[in-house]
Amino acid sequence: MKIILPKEIENKLFEVIVKAGENETGGILMGEYLSDDEYRIVDYTIQNKKGNVITFVRLISDIVVPLRKFFQKTKFNYRKYNYLGEWHSHPNFSLRPSNTDAESMWGIVEDSATNATFAVLLIFKADTINSNKLEGNAFVFLPGKIMADAEIFIYE
Ligand SMILES: [Zn+2]
Repeated sequence: MKIILPKEIENKLFEVIVKAGENETGGILMGEYLSDDEYRIVDYTIQNKKGNVITFVRLISDIVVPLRKFFQKTKFNYRKYNYLGEWHSHPNFSLRPSNTDAESMWGIVEDSATNATFAVLLIFKADTINSNKLEGNAFVFLPGKIMADAEIFIYE
């Protein structure tokens, strides 16, 4: 699966992650369907609650309000514009999902309230030492405890 990350959003996420420093930060991703194998990130949230260094725990209810606004803005065209998944930072460890991350992603795809048949997780880190860029990996979670790698493409 290809995940298109517009440059503008990449820049914003970089700033947010740098600002959070040693703390994890994150939120939800709202996407545009391009094809069964390609989605563009069109909106995102930044969770207000402070994350801590070890885990970033979220609640299903955190998804509902921003999504409702997004659906209104996109005229309830759910087939094209829908919940895509989650993003968060790993300032201090590898850009792979932790066990807690994976369990919460499977929780989302298996929760009937979300209506999600899959969910994407983007894990980022801001490299402020060498590249001064956002580094990230993408993963797709499916019911049945399936996880697959996805690719992030940054577009101007
Ligand atoms: Zn994590």
